[in-house]
Amino acid sequence: LQESPERITRIHNALLEDGTHEVEDAGEAVGKSKEVFESIIKASHDPGYLEHLEQAHNQWLKAGLITEDECILPECFRTPMGPHTSASKLNEPPKDIYARTGYYAFDMSTGISKGSWKSIRASAWLAYKAAHHVVMEDRREGKVVDTIFALCRPPGHHCDTNIAGGYCYINNAVIAVETIKHYAARRQANLYPKSTVSPGFPPNISILDIDFHHGNGTQDKYYANPRVQYVSIHGEDEFPYWSGFATETGTGAGAGKNVNRPLAKDSSFKEYVEQLNLAVEVVADFQPTYLVVSLGFDTFREDPLGSFDIKTEDYETIGRIIRSNDALKGIPAVILLEGGYVLESLGENVLSFLRGWTK
Ligand SMILES: [Zn+2]
Repeated sequence: LQESPERITRIHNALLEDGTHEVEDAGEAVGKSKEVFESIIKASHDPGYLEHLEQAHNQWLKAGLITEDECILPECFRTPMGPHTSASKLNEPPKDIYARTGYYAFDMSTGISKGSWKSIRASAWLAYKAAHHVVMEDRREGKVVDTIFALCRPPGHHCDTNIAGGYCYINNAVIAVETIKHYAARRQANLYPKSTVSPGFPPNISILDIDFHHGNGTQDKYYANPRVQYVSIHGEDEFPYWSGFATETGTGAGAGKNVNRPLAKDSSFKEYVEQLNLAVEVVADFQPTYLVVSLGFDTFREDPLGSFDIKTEDYETIGRIIRSNDALKGIPAVILLEGGYVLESLGENVLSFLRGWTK
């Protein structure tokens, strides 16, 4: 599988060796934070789906269908079938244990193994911690902390909060946005008076998604939301295939707040930069209070899942283009790791991006 734990080890080691950035362990979810974190996951994701992610492996094991080290994969999916299928039946989880696995997945990349739930939850916890940090702990020892980069694994942007796919189970960008909203409200109510900065309220939150693939799940979640903007640059006609078109612009109160910029296969870095400049302008025009970046390194030229011609040194330019924009300079930002599968280059690519971001 491309999406391996080694990805995080490589990035973590590169950050430690480089020594430029503070590297911190997010620790375990305990106490009040754990309560808030869990309430945010539950409020933003389907309860039956969460239960499935947490319990499916054990259910299969108990039913004697797998051994402990085996992984569950779906074999049939939620698809309307002929005149006898009513819409309401399609929207109910099937009782059959095999069928349920397909009901809660849209492809076969999101198997569930013994340790899956632990990793899924830990990944979401990182998104929560990062968002909490930029809203509530933005000053530490007199120093402004304006960016937290969360090394999330598994990634999140393909999950629309009730179905898994594309290596994604819980949508970490959704967790970050909902955490920002939660704590921004607390801060506004002055429950945490240590604030010295007064960001706007209610906050405008921009999600800039620069993974190679379209973040269909994130788009779906905020499609009608006027306060959460979603802007994505991604490979045209690539996974997940049925979303990411420029004609998807948002609906209702969210009309115009969803911006897709698909880019042709084999696009050069020059072509990429043209799109990035336009995307960053769109984000700046929204005047976000907070910025969430879904950052994927599968845009790298050697990535097995991508097809853009982006080199290691180009990530510095990408980081700089985003962060040096006048409207985006210094605003609190959460960067979430999404894809990126060339183990040998992941660490250097991350360092390059952060060099541009912090310059
Ligand atoms: Zn991707």
